[in-house]
Amino acid sequence: MNPSSSGFGLAAVDRRDAVLHEMDGREFDVVVIGGGITGAGLAREAAHSGLSVLLLDAGDFACGTSSRSTKLIHGGLRYLALGDVRLVREAARERKTIHRIAPHLAEPLWMLLPARSYAEWVQWRAGISLYERLGQVDRDEHHRNWKRAEIAVEEPALSKAFKYVTAYREYRTDDVRLVLANLRSAASAGACALNHASVFRIQELGSRCMTVDARCSLLRVDFRVLGRCVVNAAGPWVEAVRRLIRPDAPPWLQLTRGIHVTLPRERLPIRNMTMLRAADGRLMFAIPRSSIVYVGTTDTTHQGAPETWPPIPRSDIEYLLEALPRHFDIEAIDPEEVLAAWAGLRPLIAQSGRRPSDVSRRDELEIGPPRLISIAGGKLTAYRLMARAVLEKVSQVLGKRIVPKLEHEPLPGGDFDSDLSVLARDVGSRMQVTPEVAERMVRLYGTEAYAILRLGSEQLGPDVPVVQGEIDWAVSREGAATLEDVFYRRTRVGVYEPFADRWIEAMAFKMAKLLSWTSEQVRCEIDLVRQRLARDLAFRIPENRAARATE
Ligand code: FAD
Repeated sequence: MNPSSSGFGLAAVDRRDAVLHEMDGREFDVVVIGGGITGAGLAREAAHSGLSVLLLDAGDFACGTSSRSTKLIHGGLRYLALGDVRLVREAARERKTIHRIAPHLAEPLWMLLPARSYAEWVQWRAGISLYERLGQVDRDEHHRNWKRAEIAVEEPALSKAFKYVTAYREYRTDDVRLVLANLRSAASAGACALNHASVFRIQELGSRCMTVDARCSLLRVDFRVLGRCVVNAAGPWVEAVRRLIRPDAPPWLQLTRGIHVTLPRERLPIRNMTMLRAADGRLMFAIPRSSIVYVGTTDTTHQGAPETWPPIPRSDIEYLLEALPRHFDIEAIDPEEVLAAWAGLRPLIAQSGRRPSDVSRRDELEIGPPRLISIAGGKLTAYRLMARAVLEKVSQVLGKRIVPKLEHEPLPGGDFDSDLSVLARDVGSRMQVTPEVAERMVRLYGTEAYAILRLGSEQLGPDVPVVQGEIDWAVSREGAATLEDVFYRRTRVGVYEPFADRWIEAMAFKMAKLLSWTSEQVRCEIDLVRQRLARDLAFRIPENRAARATE
């Protein structure tokens, strides 16, 4: 263990009391506020550079924007259209690195760009070629051009109106698992990460450090830690955290809301990720994953304070679904057929006069007061670069030279270089689980699938894809404390599995056993998840006034 280690790791909920007790009054080199990808990436870099690190999240890790993205490690094509060449280069380089350190969390897949006319096809091809050149995309990853005969084989569901396709490489990830992998890596270097711990006060304590007061919502206790440097990585809440110490700080962010829906794969039987054009000309994606396809995103201004679960208006769902029968040979899909939906808030740097989708995705850093660094904007894709940039500022604040130690060290579960399907076959045969279970496990956990299956390879129920060991792992290694943490974020069934609500009880009973929940607690946890699902899908009831009122 690293000398600066706290030894707490991602504190398991049954050790929380002791952890909070020991933590109270302790001093850290860096206290990170926010456990999304920005905070998690920084915690990893800082801990591996030998600093003592504490990360606090008000909710669960990745419960904010970092569980609501399109889940692409973008090569940066979009930035070409915005004329942002630096971002194109960075994104392309970063996705190579993320693929190297976590191949299970950056899976190269074809993204189709359908064209109705030859002229449109030529335009796509020229754009993609330029992008591949600027991004120095490897030759074997270069785009393919398909005419009708190839389209009929590669993507038969595509509407016959599209005579041409350009297929280029995009990498699909899972945002939450990427956050958790970074946090586990940080913990392995001695960092401590506490979820369900909201920071409510920050104060300067002389010129040497700052005090940070937080409240644990599980145990309902307050505690105080000291930070020689405090990093505000609270995503859409960055301004709120900044105002804890500078109530008069000028506005910085512009929040835009993005919504995705998931549909049964049989209703949208596509093989490849596909770029779609919405009715207003905006670009969106349809992304297949196991037995579902998710479609998104919208991009509209979000007024008011940020929310962990932003509203999902029916009109936004209709906007997404409208594009589908224009692109694929399918019947129109009703909002009632949607399996799940999620809304996220982009914490973008405000740029007046720009449409939400034209606002640059650049990140920005601010120092003030002298020991508080705030970071806003950015992308999942660029999280390592953001972490490095913050680390440089941390080094200035601490007045000490920090040499980043990580370059290409794999993230937990990422220590393999074979294809995912090879790993899945090996997991299936060595751990004696079905190919479907093995495939799902390696996508989420990479090589850690072996250790998790060793904890329990039995499925939670006859048709439940989740295995017993996953819940043990989530609770003991990944700080899961509530049923929602496990249902939505550790196992991801609430997002990727159709009709996952059938398994809520099986998951709750397994957690109850591990955490000695009373029957009252079990009922409460189940109710919370059911209410959340009902709220997310409220738009399915056309006359639902509550959902419409929020539009
Ligand atoms: P968050 O993930 O929101 O994390 C902030 C954390 O701070 C939260 O967990 C919150 O609970 C915590 N917090 C808040 N207040 C406090 C407090 N007082 N005390 C303690 N903790 C606190 N990027 C890509 O690269 N690829 C994509 O495909 C992509 N798609 C996107 C699609 C949508 C719809 C959206 C909205 C964004 C997308 N992005 C994408 C951008 C990317 O998701 C975000 O840039 C990134 O997730 C932001 O992470 P973050 O850590 O800064 O914020």
